[in-house]
Amino acid sequence: MTVHLVGAGPGDPGLLTVRGAEVLGRADVVVYDRLVHPSLVDLAPPDAVRVYVGKAPGRAEIEQPDINALLVEHGRAGRAVVRLKGGDPFVFGRGGEEAEALAAAGVPFEVVPGITSAIGAPAYAGIPVTHRGTSTHFTVVTGHEDPAKGSADVDWEALAKAGGTLVILMGAGRVGDIAARLVAGGRPPETPVAAVRNGTRAEQQTVRATLATIADAGVRAPAAIVVGEVAGLDLAWFETRPLFGRSVVVTRAREQTSALRHRLESLGAAVIELPAIAIEPLAFHVPDLSRHAWLVFTSANGVAAFFDRGLAPAGLDARVLAGLRVAVIGPGTANALTTRGVRPDLLPERFVAESLLEAFPPPSTEGERVLVARAEQARDVLPAGLSERGYEVDVLPVYRTVTATPDPTALERVRTGGVDALTFTSSSTVTNLCDLLGAVPAPQPLVVSIGPVTSKTAKERGLRVDVEASEHTIDGLVAALLRALRAS
Ligand code: SAH
Repeated sequence: MTVHLVGAGPGDPGLLTVRGAEVLGRADVVVYDRLVHPSLVDLAPPDAVRVYVGKAPGRAEIEQPDINALLVEHGRAGRAVVRLKGGDPFVFGRGGEEAEALAAAGVPFEVVPGITSAIGAPAYAGIPVTHRGTSTHFTVVTGHEDPAKGSADVDWEALAKAGGTLVILMGAGRVGDIAARLVAGGRPPETPVAAVRNGTRAEQQTVRATLATIADAGVRAPAAIVVGEVAGLDLAWFETRPLFGRSVVVTRAREQTSALRHRLESLGAAVIELPAIAIEPLAFHVPDLSRHAWLVFTSANGVAAFFDRGLAPAGLDARVLAGLRVAVIGPGTANALTTRGVRPDLLPERFVAESLLEAFPPPSTEGERVLVARAEQARDVLPAGLSERGYEVDVLPVYRTVTATPDPTALERVRTGGVDALTFTSSSTVTNLCDLLGAVPAPQPLVVSIGPVTSKTAKERGLRVDVEASEHTIDGLVAALLRALRAS
């Protein structure tokens, strides 16, 4: 089998190539470095072996010859191996050494280039490495060589004379010496310098200075340092996004986070997933639906459970709903239904149970039956209200929400007030997160709630609710968060 040396790009997981995603999706073994985004490792099949070869606290970095040997061993054993490396594998990535080892061992390999931080980080800082009329070439150089030792490989004076744009990787610790050598070589001290730390990530920081001032500008690794006229350009787009630099906690169950997560990330937020609840399947049988006039869903989870664990195992599909009318609470639930081929007959104006009740027509015959498919533990508003209207109500619990096991680091960060905002999409996310936290975090981050019921629960648990979505949907929640964070 082939060993793929794959470039993961500089940090933003969206910068992996399509080819990289393809080979990851078929990997038996993934060997990956520090700084590789976890969501890229997640692209490998769940049963793939994941080998971390970066530095971990209290543990030495695995030596390069050991990594080479590991790749050869898995390759020889006939496994599909992906060696996932930051940036591009052949730009200061030691990918060349790995390829040599594989070639020497007769193990077939392929290279999937990646976006190098030398170009990607400046691009996210609004700096083009070449620019018409300003810079005709760029040189990528390591700053790791000790400029004090006479025999250094890098001839800084010659690079100074060559002009153009210089991109220095691994140079954060020596930037003062390097700048001095470049000035000694003839580059003017007022030459602009930009150091892009953690480029393309939510934590990106750009330090701007000149060759004369960069030594004291506080440059820290990992940084791509750009020297030259182009470093004076600031075509900012990434660091100016509305939620850039803000950390936002998402408390929905892991299965449901993606839409909210993507919306927040595209606005620039650093998203911390702290699922407060997990969805637990319940065993149930779909009753004889010919007795019911209405079927009500209160969440997308309910729809998924009803179809996937109710109808499907019984050999049934959407056609059994032909004779029923279907009501849902909100657009997320409606969407889950539509993708399964059923268009809801009733969607209330406001996306809460009370509003659905108001919109519900009275029964057309006495004792008409309604089936409510929902979570095991839920408010009684809907069944009670429908009975009051004269319906016969059957409640069918199709799943259960339980408290999730949290990531301890994320939990501690929230406890100590180290995040900007908490988002709550249901009462159960409030209850379970509060149980996990034990006490209200101090200082309390901004609390954003999807609607009045969730807000009420949050207040009961001692949280200050800073803003409530006026439309009780994910989009409404994001709009409310934007309002609140802009105001804060
Ligand atoms: N193969 C990688 C480089 C590995 S050397 C590539 O093509 O990008 C490691 C150096 O890369 C770091 O010291 C830093 O200078 C740079 N680097 C890696 N990721 C970076 C990022 N997200 N932002 C800025 N610099 C980064």
